[in-house]
Amino acid sequence: MPDLPVMTTRETDMILGEATVQGFKTSLRGSLLCPGDAGYEDARKVWNANVDKWPALIACCAGVADVINAVHFARTHHLLVSVRGGGHNIPGNCVCHGGLVIDLSRMRGIRVDPMRRTARAEGGVKWGAFDHETQAFGLATPGGTDADTGIAGLTLGGGIGWLSGKYGLACDNLIAADIVTADGQFRHVNASEHPDLLWGLRGGGGNFGVVTSFAYQLHPVGPLVLAGIVFYPFAQAREFLRFYRDFSRQIPDELNTIGGLGTAHDGAKVGVMAVCYSGSLEEGERVLRPIREFGPPLADHIQTMPYTAAQQILAPLAPAGRHYYIKSHFIREISDGAIDTMLAHFATVTSPLSAMIFQQLGNAASRVPSGDTAFGHRNAGYEWATLSAWLDPAESAGHIQWTREFSQAMRPFTQGFYVNQVGTEADEGVDLIREAFGANYQRLADLKRKYDPTNLFRHNQNIPPTV
Ligand SMILES: Cc1cc2nc3c(=O)[nH]c(=O)nc-3n(C[C@H](O)[C@H](O)[C@H](O)COP(=O)(O)OP(=O)(O)OC[C@H]3O[C@@H](n4cnc5c(N)ncnc54)[C@H](O)[C@@H]3O)c2cc1C
Repeated sequence: MPDLPVMTTRETDMILGEATVQGFKTSLRGSLLCPGDAGYEDARKVWNANVDKWPALIACCAGVADVINAVHFARTHHLLVSVRGGGHNIPGNCVCHGGLVIDLSRMRGIRVDPMRRTARAEGGVKWGAFDHETQAFGLATPGGTDADTGIAGLTLGGGIGWLSGKYGLACDNLIAADIVTADGQFRHVNASEHPDLLWGLRGGGGNFGVVTSFAYQLHPVGPLVLAGIVFYPFAQAREFLRFYRDFSRQIPDELNTIGGLGTAHDGAKVGVMAVCYSGSLEEGERVLRPIREFGPPLADHIQTMPYTAAQQILAPLAPAGRHYYIKSHFIREISDGAIDTMLAHFATVTSPLSAMIFQQLGNAASRVPSGDTAFGHRNAGYEWATLSAWLDPAESAGHIQWTREFSQAMRPFTQGFYVNQVGTEADEGVDLIREAFGANYQRLADLKRKYDPTNLFRHNQNIPPTV
């Protein structure tokens, strides 16, 4: 193993000697991968093929001890650090150029306590595996709408999902966590131990350390729910978006919706609505009737299915390995002006794989006071996002430009940003990141100073420590 050029937290280059790297390697139960090692290529890849970063070191942690050693190593050598959970983040914050990736993707243990209705899961678990285990006991917790997403990133940034109308965000159901903070200390965090840190982990992103396990409150769900996707002709797009707005404005807690515009297999633009109703199936049919009466749809795939299958309904629309770019905002109300702007921009969409969606908040997610958790955008009605997707990397610039222009045109109708869809400060700027944390920013900055005063964990939606 030769000497290794690395990037420091000060964005300067440095050389790590062979013996130093070898010493780190032997301190791990998992593996340490450097450029050229077998497995390095796969380990640096993430869900989004548009993310193409070359870390100097990838510590594939096997357990908490490896995470502690990795944090100490990073701290001692002032290394740029990123932390990987499920590797699903679209901006690709979990990998860094030239630094150390603390990769938890092999830490996938899950333990359900059916009596207490809680579950503890390690930092590399994805929602598909988590739901599989909890549904064995008829239980679940809100966890996004894609089984391939990591529990770690999604929960730390908030976590909006199919169960959020009834049980709030993923972060609202986070009752405890184990974390290795920047000083290399392992801390158990719950309502009585480091409660300030528990508050910060509920929406403050990856700013406070490496979370090695998450404990959640579970709720009875399913096993059958009423879920699926409905497609409408684009000729009706304006009426469809207005219908989506009116329908989604007042719905029972058991129903969550996603609505938007996309392109069908035959290349025709379409209106799209995806739903999951997790209450009584009979009542669900009644609640969903207006969707079936608005139409006729091009296709109606809403049906009774296991909750674990509902977590997969959107998977074919956004598979791993394509090139993606996202711009996302929160939006309180879908005004006619916003709809007109969307229609005008979507008419010029540059890729048939791209989409524009609203993901609904409201109901239980909005009943939590905005200071109770670090996730502060409790009065947002929806997360609005334009997600561009394409296959040929040579086309990237055009698709990214279209997405940015669309996002810019929507700014007058939106308020704030979703932490989980935001890139690093170098990509987004300080102001946008501040807006993502909203009114909780200063409290988060104070917390950052307490637990990470040197800003070791900065390759994220960074909150610099206050002075
Ligand atoms: C197809 C798709 C669907 C999605 N659907 C939803 C949805 O329905 N609802 C929703 O809310 N979001 C959704 N998201 C966004 C999702 O919440 C984020 O992409 C999230 O960051 C993914 O978490 P991850 O662990 O997989 O990501 P990673 O890329 O592994 O990590 C993202 C960031 O989280 C932090 N992090 C990760 N693991 C740890 C850890 N163990 N300790 C400390 N920090 C850590 C780091 O800062 C890291 O950079 C979706 C994304 C995609 C691509």
